Amino acid sequence: MYPKKSLGQNFLKDKNIIKKIVEIGNIKSNTVLLEIGPGTGNLTNEIINKNPKKIYLIEKDKNLYQELKDKFRNDKNIFLFNEDALKFDEKKFENDQIILFGNLPYNISSQLLAKWILIKKWPPWYNKLILMFQKEVADRIIAKFGSRDYGRLSILSNWRLDIKKHFDISKDCFFPKPKVDSTLLTFVPIKKDYFQLNDPKKLEQITRIFFSNKRKMINKAFNRTFQNDKKIISDLNLNLNLRPANLKMEIYYKLAQKYEKLAN
Ligand code: SAM
Repeated sequence: MYPKKSLGQNFLKDKNIIKKIVEIGNIKSNTVLLEIGPGTGNLTNEIINKNPKKIYLIEKDKNLYQELKDKFRNDKNIFLFNEDALKFDEKKFENDQIILFGNLPYNISSQLLAKWILIKKWPPWYNKLILMFQKEVADRIIAKFGSRDYGRLSILSNWRLDIKKHFDISKDCFFPKPKVDSTLLTFVPIKKDYFQLNDPKKLEQITRIFFSNKRKMINKAFNRTFQNDKKIISDLNLNLNLRPANLKMEIYYKLAQKYEKLAN
């Protein structure tokens, strides 16, 4: 079978890297796992070696799904879904406290991450996300305020997840070889002391509005959204002459809270 570019099929072939990734999961006999895009089962095989309680697999590619189904037909604790992870409803995992692994298809990796962050019920259905991204996407996720890569993705990701960078992975470790290197990150939900929102989508919306024009001052975006509300300006000590990347993360979290109140 020829790997499909449209589904981001770059399979990890380096055994040492596979082992290192799975070690991070600290898998015990009572661990329940979900793997997004198991592909040919490279990572899955190593996960199985750790004898977890249950493994859910979501693979969009029909052919790969069939191959996996066949390969794991005798494993009673493996549950396969031939579905699109972007549309998958993870509510069914709520009692499982999942460890999620994903060597994510690069074209939807940030969309998937946003989906797992912007959920109403918190703490969420997972205990930990162990995810591989293209290095440049990972750099944007972990970017600190003031750095070149700081932006929407850093603001969303750091809202209520503790993020850790583990290591970079050379493009030579994959088949077919992608154009860029990858990075492994883990995410653990922060359970309290974050800026609460009833509707997390508001954070996505507010950052989209403010970052729609990165080089422009935020005054237009602010006035359009908040009708020039002087109280918000003074509450947040906002300088409307700044550019979107010059506002700290917590300002965006507070703006999202104000935006939410406005909508009600
Ligand atoms: N886990 C394997 C590995 O490490 O070798 C494969 C990783 S490959 C980068 C991404 C996998 O995700 C492919 O198997 C691809 O078919 C699958 N995939 C792509 N889009 C998907 C989607 N929307 N939902 C679920 N799986 C998807």
